[in-house]
Amino acid sequence: MSPPVYLDHAATTPVDPRVAAAMAECLTADGVFGNPASAGHVHGEAAFERVEAARAAVAAAVGADPQEVVFTSGATEADNLAIFGVAEHARPRGRHVVTARTEHKAVLDPCRELERRGWQVTYLAPDERGRVAPDRLAAALRADTVLVSLMHVNNEIGTVQDVAAFAAVCERHGGAWLHVDAAQSVGKVALDFHASGAALMSLSAHKSHGPKGVGALLLSRRHGVRIEPRQFGGGQERGLRSGTVATHQVVGMAAAFALAVAARPAEAIRLAALRERLWRGLEAHGGALRNGAPEDTVAAILNVSFADVEGESLLAAVAPRISVSTGSACTSASGEPSYVLRALGRDERLAEASLRFGLGRSTSAEDVDEAIAAVGAALSRLRRIGGGCAIAS
Ligand SMILES: *Cc1c(COP(=O)(O)O)cnc(C)c1O
Repeated sequence: MSPPVYLDHAATTPVDPRVAAAMAECLTADGVFGNPASAGHVHGEAAFERVEAARAAVAAAVGADPQEVVFTSGATEADNLAIFGVAEHARPRGRHVVTARTEHKAVLDPCRELERRGWQVTYLAPDERGRVAPDRLAAALRADTVLVSLMHVNNEIGTVQDVAAFAAVCERHGGAWLHVDAAQSVGKVALDFHASGAALMSLSAHKSHGPKGVGALLLSRRHGVRIEPRQFGGGQERGLRSGTVATHQVVGMAAAFALAVAARPAEAIRLAALRERLWRGLEAHGGALRNGAPEDTVAAILNVSFADVEGESLLAAVAPRISVSTGSACTSASGEPSYVLRALGRDERLAEASLRFGLGRSTSAEDVDEAIAAVGAALSRLRRIGGGCAIAS
C-alpha cells in the first residue's frame, strides 16, 4: 500500500529543523538550560535572555509589544485565561458575553462554563460563508456586555473574519473588550495585533509549524486590559500565569513564527493555486459542495461536503490514504457532525459527509493529485454500494 498523502494540517507536521535546533539548544548541558526565573544565577540569566528574545520575536511577528505577551501552554489556555480572566475582573460591571456558534471549543466551552456560573452568553449565528456580521454584533451588545470573543481564522472552514470591524463596534460600545482567537492566523494571513484593534488575542505555536504545548495571550496596553489570573504560584508572566516558563517551547514558538511570517506571502500564492487545483479535481467527481468562499478563506484550508455518500464511510475510506478530518481534531473524536458546518446551514447529512483538507509547507501538486484520486475512488465505490438507500434513510 502506498504511504498516506501528507496534505498537511500544519498542526500534524514535524517542526522545521531550524526550529528544532533552536529548541534543542535550550535543553542540553552545553546549552541554555537554566531556569529563566532564577535571576542572578549565570544559567538563569542566559535562559531569561532567551525567553525575553523569544517574547520580542513573537511580538514582532504579530505586531505587538513584548510587554503585551503572556506565554501559555497553547491557545486553549490563552482562550480560557482571556475569557475567565476578563469575566472575573469585569464582574462588577456586568456579566454578559458575546461569542459565535462557529468558535473553537476552547472558546465555546469556557462560555458554557460561565453560563453555569451565572453569566449570560449570546451565541451569534454566522452567514453561510462563516462570517459574523458586525451589525449583528452591534445589535447583541448590551449595557452589561463586558467581553466579545470572536475568532480571526476559522479552523474548520478557513474563513477570515474582519476583526477590525468587530473592534470598531466594541470601541463604539465602550464597555466591551474584544478577544480574538487567532490560533490559526500566523503564517496563513497577515496579522497585526495593534492594527486589529483587539484588546486580547490568543496564539498557538503548533498551527504554524511550531512545537505543540506553547502559545500566548496578548493583552493590549492601549486598551489598558486587566484580567484576573487563573493560576497562582511563582508570579511569572507578571503574575498572570504562574509557572516556570518553558524556555525551549517559547524559543521554538518564536523561531516558527519568524519562519511562518517570512514565508507567508509566497506560500499564500503557492497554496492558493494548490487549493484551487484540489477543488477543481474534487468538483469533477460530482456532488461536491464547497464550504466557505474562496475569496475570504485562507489558502491552507479547503472544506468540502459530498452529496450521496455517508460521512463515516467516506472518512474511513479516505483517511488511511490522505490526512483529512471531518472537523477539528476535537469534534471528529466525538463522532458528531461538525457544529461549524451546521451553523453555516449545512444539513446534518452533508455536515457529516464533509472533509477538511489542510495544505501546508510540505504539500506538493503530486500530493493534491493523489488526494483527488483517492477521494474519487472512495466516492465511486461508496456511491455504487450505497445505491441510494443509505442516502434516503
Ligand atoms: C488549535 C486551536 C485552538 C487550540 O490551540 P492549542 O494550542 O492546541 O491549545 C484554539 N482555537 C483555534 C481556532 C484553534 O485552531
